Amino acid sequence: MTHAERAALFAAEPGRSAWHDEALWSVRQRRDEAVRALPEWGRLVELAGQLKAHTLARLPDYLEQFESEATARGAVVHWAKDAAEHNRIVLGLLEERRVERVAKSKSMLTEECGLNPYLEARGIEVIDTDLGERIVQLRNEAPSHIVLPAIHLKRTEIGALFHEHLGTPAGESEPAALVAAARQDLRRRFLSAQAGITGVNFGIAETGGIVVCTNEGNADLGTSLPPLHIASMGIEKLIPRLADLSVFLRLLARSATGQPITAYTSHFHGPRPDAELHIVLVDNGRSALRAREAVREALHCIRCGACMNTCPVFRYGGGHAYGATIPGPIGSVLEPAKHPQHHASLPFACSGCGACGGVCPVGIDLPQQLQSLRAESGPQRGAMGLRAMSFAMRGRRRYALATGVMRLAQRLLPRLVIERMARGWTRDRALPQAARESFRSWWQKQERGR
Ligand code: SF4
Repeated sequence: MTHAERAALFAAEPGRSAWHDEALWSVRQRRDEAVRALPEWGRLVELAGQLKAHTLARLPDYLEQFESEATARGAVVHWAKDAAEHNRIVLGLLEERRVERVAKSKSMLTEECGLNPYLEARGIEVIDTDLGERIVQLRNEAPSHIVLPAIHLKRTEIGALFHEHLGTPAGESEPAALVAAARQDLRRRFLSAQAGITGVNFGIAETGGIVVCTNEGNADLGTSLPPLHIASMGIEKLIPRLADLSVFLRLLARSATGQPITAYTSHFHGPRPDAELHIVLVDNGRSALRAREAVREALHCIRCGACMNTCPVFRYGGGHAYGATIPGPIGSVLEPAKHPQHHASLPFACSGCGACGGVCPVGIDLPQQLQSLRAESGPQRGAMGLRAMSFAMRGRRRYALATGVMRLAQRLLPRLVIERMARGWTRDRALPQAARESFRSWWQKQERGR
């Protein structure tokens, strides 16, 4: 199925599109308020973009520095060239320690690598401990948003799910009661987990430390109890110095949810006493992206989700419509750049409004990146129509003739016939009604009357 077909299915469910749009737009509005309250926002965005560009330009050096600092603090650093190697490394670590149950906090990288099904197929139970992730895990589906994984679901659907899996009373859909039930269930599982897996929001080259941001504190719980912590980190998550972290922390939470800072910003500098910390550095196509000038900037992304909350195509069509780990505008750049064979059509899942570029806290020019990928994918859909329009608009007489023919056709042919002829255009839009008289002829009459 294409993005358009999946989005149409989502939109066809009565009320879902409007409700989804409203939910995401309220997050976007909270983001706007938080941004307005920070006079130096523009400067921070500029600085963040410069820091990311600088780090990417010297990525091999910073990675080596990170490895040596992390190792000096007692962590073990592993290198994975792709998803398969990442999964093998994680499995090896778990099997060596006879781990049967893992508590995992939210990590888009482990989603990207398909870690959950990989481990589960080998007999290791993985419990997603972020509430939204846990909900989609119970439904056996992927997150639909990188910050709000279950935003596509209504509370009544979550209530029914919890009734089935957690034994809550039938019909219960009060958020407080549902959260309490999930918490109780998760607590039991936290206590029995033998290892904790987290993602990484930022890796600091200068100190070898990693930083994980959550609102539920689940990363801390998941890693404080068991003796093994595995952190999966994309190589683009590096920043040079500890001092740079504050720039990104101030941008991340405000852009994601409108909060000044995430409720928990957890720093891991080496393992706890008597415990192990393993950091798996994952490439999985990032080096290839870094080598491509046109899309390199997409690696600056700090996964705040603001471009998704802003994009009208995402808000009305839902995140699952993209059929990719990272949906929305940034996913429409990253996924086809990494897997053109599967996601080449995603840059076209865009209205061209440019709104995403205006909210990105690291200043990624998403509209430009989407445009580059569209251009790379060869002749665009509707190119014939655009060529005809370009021909007609390049001369005064041609333009007058073309609009005259259109006016005549609209007068003589039934509307249905015209809509059928232009169905590529009219499927998603209303065909404008041409004025009965052209402006040119109206103007000439006015001139004659003077
Ligand atoms: S591209 Fe920008 S706005 Fe979108 S998720 Fe990444 S950092 Fe946020």
